[in-house]
Amino acid sequence: MQRYSVFSLIREGLNGHRGWHRVWRHPEPKAAYDAVIIGGGGHGLATAYYLAKEHGLTNIAVIEKGWIGGGNSGRNTTIIRSNYLFDESAAIYNHALTLWKTLGRELNYNIMMSHRGVLNLAHDEHEGRQLKRRVEANRLNGVDSEWLDAKQVKDFCPVINISHDIRYPVLGATLQRDGGTNRHDAVVWGYARACDAMGVDIIQQCEVTGIRTSRGAVTGVETTRGTIRTPKVACVTAGHTSVIASMLDIRLPIQSHPLQALVSEPIKPLVPCVIMSNAVHVYCSQSDKGELVIGAGIDAHNSYTQRGSLDIIEHQMASLCELLPPVARLRMMRQWGGIVDTCPDASPIISKTPVKGFYINGGWGTGGWKATPGSGHVFAWTVAKDEPHPIAAPFALDRFHSGALVAEHGAAAVAH
Ligand SMILES: Cc1cc2nc3c(=O)[nH]c(=O)nc-3n(C[C@H](O)[C@H](O)[C@H](O)COP(=O)(O)OP(=O)(O)OC[C@H]3O[C@@H](n4cnc5c(N)ncnc54)[C@H](O)[C@@H]3O)c2cc1C
Repeated sequence: MQRYSVFSLIREGLNGHRGWHRVWRHPEPKAAYDAVIIGGGGHGLATAYYLAKEHGLTNIAVIEKGWIGGGNSGRNTTIIRSNYLFDESAAIYNHALTLWKTLGRELNYNIMMSHRGVLNLAHDEHEGRQLKRRVEANRLNGVDSEWLDAKQVKDFCPVINISHDIRYPVLGATLQRDGGTNRHDAVVWGYARACDAMGVDIIQQCEVTGIRTSRGAVTGVETTRGTIRTPKVACVTAGHTSVIASMLDIRLPIQSHPLQALVSEPIKPLVPCVIMSNAVHVYCSQSDKGELVIGAGIDAHNSYTQRGSLDIIEHQMASLCELLPPVARLRMMRQWGGIVDTCPDASPIISKTPVKGFYINGGWGTGGWKATPGSGHVFAWTVAKDEPHPIAAPFALDRFHSGALVAEHGAAAVAH
């Protein structure tokens, strides 16, 4: 793999940039692989990366119906944090946060990781009590978390309006200082490049249309570019997880909803951290380009269209204008949507299934970006060893029969 560094940049600059290598190949699908991963988003590519790197499985393919990162991975607002309530969630999200901290160096790819801090605002006494409880739970799990009163919120993020005469005044907030954002495309491309260098085939413009089985075990996948034999299929298709599972008559407790985001025109630095508000349903950060990146909750209806409804935008912008008054003078530049896969307990599914050799990593809903490296890491273990990684075990499918749900609605809340 060609090494990226300031020296290679200078060398290529002097050379007219003629020496850069192609970052990944575009191979034809082989007739057979040791494992096939459906879905070339961050989670699918991370799964392939750890399968190759840590389990020595390099004769594998990532099959993507569009282009890599064209799904939710390229459409999300990249908020990263691990301040969920329950031990099971803290374990997986903290595992991911630990991997994020060194991922850029490991992949030799600048993922623009920024630990700028994440504020979760409280607007009433009850919400404040819930958030303070979460701070205590977080600390017991080693998650970086603290409570700020309204004045401390203002000191940390001066643009926030803490006046008492707004409809939902800010009473305080939790702060996770090592939370933040990164660059989604860079993560996808960095993983893809490293996978390719280890021999993983990344096959784009190839849709999986069926899964073949024999005697209750996977034998291959049918695709728009032919049939591929394989004993292991790992489904990592976010909003389309139930579509793939239905190919094997597996019914999942997942609902697919549109979730949208939008960005403003670029401005000078205004928002130094990530601001999230569950009560008024809006969140915001500022990209390195200067655009405010703004999101809210899901559309209430189920859909596979990658766009959201106008009423959500109206509501979130009204909330944001109260919270950050200068925003009222900004023009919004772009809006887009993705399809998120939500589970009844707002926690993911990382699991074996009743069909031997078929594994599911999905149900991340509105907040799976932050988990990308951790999710790929524990899922690769599950696929390679055919047994759940200890961190993944609580997120198995059987929790919907046993009732051992990991109910994270409070922490997932406004999404992300
Ligand atoms: C607007 C928005 C904002 C968000 N903000 C945040 C945030 O701030 N923080 C956070 O943590 N999370 C956020 N999320 C959630 C996050 O984006 C997802 O949980 C995460 O990116 C899912 O990654 P993935 O790799 O599983 O899915 P994807 O990136 O969607 O990848 C799945 C891939 O599967 C492919 N596929 C589907 N069906 C087939 C098939 N039949 N054959 C082949 N390929 C197929 C798709 O084309 C797609 O590329 C947000 C989501 C949206 C939509």
